[in-house]
Amino acid sequence: MDFEGITGQREVIENLKRSLSEDRVSHAYIFSGPQGIGKKTIARVFAGLLLCNDPHGGATCGRCKACLLMENGTNPDFISINTDGPSIGVDLIRGIQSDSVLRPMYSRRKVYIVEDAAKMTVQAQNCLLKTFEEPPGYVVVILLTTNYESLLETVRSRAQHLQFRKYTHDQVMQALKARIGGSSSVLELIAGYADGNIGQALKLAESSEFSAMRDRLFELMPGIGSGRTRDIFELAAFLEENRENIDVLLDIMLAYYRDLLVASEGAAGMLINSDKKDIIMNNARNCRSSRIIECIDAIGAAKGALRQHANYQLLTDYLLIKLQG
Ligand SMILES: [Zn+2]
Repeated sequence: MDFEGITGQREVIENLKRSLSEDRVSHAYIFSGPQGIGKKTIARVFAGLLLCNDPHGGATCGRCKACLLMENGTNPDFISINTDGPSIGVDLIRGIQSDSVLRPMYSRRKVYIVEDAAKMTVQAQNCLLKTFEEPPGYVVVILLTTNYESLLETVRSRAQHLQFRKYTHDQVMQALKARIGGSSSVLELIAGYADGNIGQALKLAESSEFSAMRDRLFELMPGIGSGRTRDIFELAAFLEENRENIDVLLDIMLAYYRDLLVASEGAAGMLINSDKKDIIMNNARNCRSSRIIECIDAIGAAKGALRQHANYQLLTDYLLIKLQG
């Protein structure tokens, strides 16, 4: 296990490698950046390197007890907290705290990863602070978050912050070609959608329905803005049928409005959906920029609400009302 196969995030990786080679590892890290940008992948590689008893040249040995258990997902010195629920309560963090008192079993260190760390309640964050204030020497806590600002200032100030950046279009293309292959024009389109996010790009590329869903939405979206009742009902039904793909659907809708905005400002050469140029140009003529921005905001709000596990039906109904204006 090493950082070699990971595209991009060189700044973050160099920082972590340096702290390993100089043996100056922090007790607490915050990895922040958008979903799918590689926070979890890099945190796991880093954890593997921290736990391996015989790492060489920036790679784990793959043979020591810690490495073998890590590979099986049963290393007791590695705990990763991820919850589907809306929040991470104080009990889970107390669990970390009481576990951290026990010395590591197979390594020099113990590593705790908290995914979606901004889901921690204030009480949970305060509890974590106690571990940050007097950490046993072997403990490393890595908080992953899309929302750095919403962590308590006291937590932020005690952890080393590593910010994950968006990937360039070329890096996304490179990752897509390596993992997926196939027609370059389809990959270009997907890379455009993913907006610098490799995890999102791979998810889109692996979703066989992506093209079909995009075509269908491009049939329905123009009718929504003009309040055509039949299209509104059909879109409502379509969103209901494709519930499990709502993230992708909202991204496609967002890209549609983003392109309307670009087209209405006369920059048609910059469309994400360049193959749907006619639909975009026709509709851009009938829309005011301020109205398009309202739609973009409404979809952004729906994405946020979705992450907070809002009621699906209410969320999509409300969104459709907003999009009709
Ligand atoms: Zn090892």
